[in-house]
Amino acid sequence: MKLKRRRLLQCAAALSLIGTRSWAVTEAAFGDFTVHSVSDGKLVLPVGFLTVPGDDQTEAREILSEAGISGESFDSPLNLTLMTRGDEKILFDTGSGSGFMPTAGKLTEALAAIDISPDQITHIVFTHAHPDHIWGALDDFDEPAFANARHMIGRVERDYWLDPATPGRIDSDRLSFVAGAKRRIETLGDLLEVFEDGDEVLPGIRAVMTPGHTPGHASFDLDGQLFVIGDVVTNPHLAFRRPDILSGSDQEPEIAAKTRIKVLNFLSESNINILGYHLPDGGIGKVRRDGGGFAFITG
Ligand SMILES: [Zn+2]
Repeated sequence: MKLKRRRLLQCAAALSLIGTRSWAVTEAAFGDFTVHSVSDGKLVLPVGFLTVPGDDQTEAREILSEAGISGESFDSPLNLTLMTRGDEKILFDTGSGSGFMPTAGKLTEALAAIDISPDQITHIVFTHAHPDHIWGALDDFDEPAFANARHMIGRVERDYWLDPATPGRIDSDRLSFVAGAKRRIETLGDLLEVFEDGDEVLPGIRAVMTPGHTPGHASFDLDGQLFVIGDVVTNPHLAFRRPDILSGSDQEPEIAAKTRIKVLNFLSESNINILGYHLPDGGIGKVRRDGGGFAFITG
């Protein structure tokens, strides 16, 4: 992998027009394709989100304070993976659009900074249907924001959000997630194709089911060279040091922790590059074993 200079200058210039810099673009080249980490901005989340209420918080607090997180909230970056291969422009997830958080929904601006318009995207591949990953699929007029793209989602994930039983089973503070995902999945209609675990969703791109964050969460192996991990790891501190600590951001925390440990073992053993949706510095790096846990290495 050849990591190119981060395009901070270009983005900073573009953003000076709107007065705030909340995203950057990082680019890496692999064999016959290029990957951009394209930022949708960031989420500002309560620190309590990193653990599960009722669990012993002592160790988690120590690790977080070492990572400089001591207040009530923390910033969580939003890194979309854009794979360019020949004429294909394949975007993993769509960001959150304008309706989720004021600090997010910057994707269109970030794409513009690398001279790409939403109409040029040929494929959208979803990791899962949480707001920060799928709400940007529709524009402010409820039309598909990526009008020329084929859209793909895991069958288990699609069926979960459409299941009439889901609103009765999900935490009440996530009810808006159900309505938001359902509306987008239904509006995309025939534009949305489904895939199964292990499917090659496009040549050289294999879906790997990594459940727990959501029931049908998917990761993607890009030609054995880059692993798009989505939200298998939702933060750079606790989840690497102690992947077994349950996270409040996961809908099925025990299953998610098992998935996280399994995936981190695979990533550290295979030495493959990863792109993590909520990881720092564009989220491109590698996973190494570190003491009893793991570490995320960039650069
Ligand atoms: Zn997420």
